[in-house]
Amino acid sequence: MTLTHACPICAAPAEPMMLPVSVRRAGRTVFRLEVPAWHCSECGYVDVEDATRESVIATLEEHTRPGDDIVFALEEA
Ligand SMILES: [Zn+2]
Repeated sequence: MTLTHACPICAAPAEPMMLPVSVRRAGRTVFRLEVPAWHCSECGYVDVEDATRESVIATLEEHTRPGDDIVFALEEA
């Protein structure tokens, strides 16, 4: 767990945030989770660490069916 993180795009310091991810099926949200991510205040890029991304993908695979939409929603502060 690192306390600082440089943006991979512009190298500015990125801030920790929780990125909401939802699974939608036929227009309804059927599963929701929050993913720890880094948000760059300079360029707005959202970076998810590789280990986090892998566990998120594994979790999503358990809760999705073919045809579901996975929506990553960035809520502006
Ligand atoms: Zn940046």
